Amino acid sequence: MASSDSTAPAEPDNKQQPSDSYDKKCIFCKIVNREMDTELLHSDEEISCFRDIKPGAPHHYLVVPTKHVGNCKSLNKEHIPLVEKLMETGKTILQKNNVTDLNDVRFGFHWPPFHSVVHLHLHVLAPASQMGFMARLIFRPDSYWFITADQLLQRLNSMD
Ligand code: AMP
Repeated sequence: MASSDSTAPAEPDNKQQPSDSYDKKCIFCKIVNREMDTELLHSDEEISCFRDIKPGAPHHYLVVPTKHVGNCKSLNKEHIPLVEKLMETGKTILQKNNVTDLNDVRFGFHWPPFHSVVHLHLHVLAPASQMGFMARLIFRPDSYWFITADQLLQRLNSMD
């Protein structure tokens, strides 16, 4: 008689298998691994995107590496393609959501220690002109707590 294992129907499994780059304590690892109810607006091996739970603008998305990567301060030159992909995905998600003015946007990262989630995440906010007083403060370019995506790329490009 066949063992119960061999007769058991294959379970539908659209989750990625946790790997070394999965941090079981990380909320964003759980989200991209579909362990939470959060809707994924984009998901592939490299990049995932979902809505920020506390939006700072009419459109506020978080674009993250699907595998756990630490905060923006820990990045080096090798991460430039990843940051560029985060930005490209952010723009695509905005366009899919009918945001046409890609000049009126805010793309960036909270600089440690002013971040709350370690898993690298690009904040994508639009329209920037409709951000409220608090959001303008929290996501303020040229502050010591927020670095725009372009500024981060410049920093990574200037590294040896
Ligand atoms: P930061 O302060 O830059 O680390 O940003 C973390 C962001 O993650 C904040 O804007 C939070 O609102 C957002 N956030 C935290 N938990 C969740 C969640 N479960 N789903 C979606 N967004 C979240």
